Amino acid sequence: MKVAMVIPPYRYGADPRHWITVPPQGYGGIQWVVATLMDGLLEAGSEILLLGAPGSPVQGGVTVSAAVEAADIHVAIKAFDPDVVHDHSNAAALPPGEVGPTVSTHHLNGVPERQANGIYVSRAQRTAAGSASAPVIRLPVNPSRYHFREAKDDNLLFLGRVSAHKGVREAAAFARAVGLPLTVAGPAWEKDYLDALLADFPHTVSYIGEVGGSVRAELIARARAQMVLSQPSGGPFGGRWIEPGATVVSEAAASGTPVIASDNGCLPEIVPGVGRVLPVGREITPRDAERVLRTLPTAQAVREAAVHRWGHDTIARQYLAVYERAISGEVWT
Ligand code: UDP
Repeated sequence: MKVAMVIPPYRYGADPRHWITVPPQGYGGIQWVVATLMDGLLEAGSEILLLGAPGSPVQGGVTVSAAVEAADIHVAIKAFDPDVVHDHSNAAALPPGEVGPTVSTHHLNGVPERQANGIYVSRAQRTAAGSASAPVIRLPVNPSRYHFREAKDDNLLFLGRVSAHKGVREAAAFARAVGLPLTVAGPAWEKDYLDALLADFPHTVSYIGEVGGSVRAELIARARAQMVLSQPSGGPFGGRWIEPGATVVSEAAASGTPVIASDNGCLPEIVPGVGRVLPVGREITPRDAERVLRTLPTAQAVREAAVHRWGHDTIARQYLAVYERAISGEVWT
């Protein structure tokens, strides 16, 4: 199958010639999802044109396009002549137009720009977008890209954007209640939020900035638990934040690291079996926190659940089936 994979191009650092790659150098939810899906599609024998991520590492079966403007992306797709186009940019990098059968994975909140042939990453996200029957395909993980460790350090981890909607303060409050340090890694674009976090949890939080490569993999593998206490308010685009897919959950589980999550958005759908789900807004006492930590599933159990539910080969097969539906002319919303 020939697949044109379109992601939104984002600049990396100050040099205008550098773009966030697939997989990303550091933070990058969509880029990790696409890298992992590509792993599965390539194993299934697909040929891929990757658009929106110039400079991505080249691997067999993949052509990395230099195009970043929508018009150039359009031209590059036409020249590739794919069986299917898979848009991950919410139509930003690929406005609707004649490029043949197209499916579109929604990575954000709210109603997607392109509703035809949409794919959602959780039921909560799909419901919020007003669709009842479009396919839900979970975010994939490739276990071979992660380190599995049963022996854990005495710390908790927050990995992601250091923002109110990601619940970093709530993670710090949990860590303080249970008496463990919280390592916070990720970009902190809202400086006031980070400053307040460090001022309010001086003995609990250590902020290490954005991480990538083996530092990232080891951090995930060594943590006692990954904190994903996503909050329904303070989202990046205003309005209510419904955690759409939470890449960090499958990454942690594949590393043998259980997850402590809130019940926001997709999390109650995916976390049971790989961690614990706590209600948003509930004050956590030291006793509660200690009990949650003590009753988390084992490293082996969460790894097995991650591979079984979200392995890249399984998820790629689900995508290939949806591609076939689009290629046969089916249109769904
Ligand atoms: N991430 C990373 N380095 C960092 C912070 C985050 O590689 O310093 C990765 C993280 O592992 C995950 C992604 O960025 O793959 C964030 O995706 P998620 O779906 O959790 O959050 P969102 O895309 O909603 O911000």
